[in-house]
Amino acid sequence: MEYKYTSIILEKRNKGETDRFYVFYTLEKGKIGVKAQGVRRPQSKLAGNLENFNFGHIFVARGKGSGRIIGAIAENIFPALRKNWETLSSVFETIAIFNRLTDYEEKDVEIFKLLLEYLFSMEKVAAVKEISSEETRKRIKILKSGFLIQFLLLSGYRLETKTCVVCGEKIAAEGNYFSSPKGGLICSRCSMTVSRKIAISANTIKLVRLFSYHRLSSFLKLKVGDKEIENLELVVRDFLRWII
Ligand SMILES: [Zn+2]
Repeated sequence: MEYKYTSIILEKRNKGETDRFYVFYTLEKGKIGVKAQGVRRPQSKLAGNLENFNFGHIFVARGKGSGRIIGAIAENIFPALRKNWETLSSVFETIAIFNRLTDYEEKDVEIFKLLLEYLFSMEKVAAVKEISSEETRKRIKILKSGFLIQFLLLSGYRLETKTCVVCGEKIAAEGNYFSSPKGGLICSRCSMTVSRKIAISANTIKLVRLFSYHRLSSFLKLKVGDKEIENLELVVRDFLRWII
């Protein structure tokens, strides 16, 4: 049987003398792993369409087992993102986290769309010429944190930002903490009762709320200070460490 998938390449690994094993996130089946035979031979036509992060279509022949790739079409290879070392290395890191937190064959159309939106947004960041390198760096970081927060929410993790996860009271403007094990904010009064926590600023809370309810591509217009980005990254890192 031959199957066609709309896919994003998450990872590729060499196998044997001339083969490669690919991990894709597909629209139809979620994450899948498929082998491509002879793809590292110089005359192979497949390899060019099977680069990391390519968005496109793959054709898989499947009998028993995981099957093999018999064709690939790249719809978008994100050329600007690939040429810029900073966007490229950030995408590598983000996709590695995504890959680690995703199980095989769990289809999720919303997660597929989010991953694609992240790549298109990073391509935009890399392609824009008129912004400073400092601003580019900020956008890369905001998109990474924004993507990871949205991905975690879609994966079913709780991230409460309106009320304290201990007492249930509405969160005040200042003096709040974030707790990864409790999945949300803790007010200053309850903070004594929780040992693992990170101080979170009012602006960072606003960012996390924004990430929870708006599309990723709209974050490109945000003006965010270095302090907020640092605080945001700390929260996301701690949350990921707790999950992984
Ligand atoms: Zn409380």
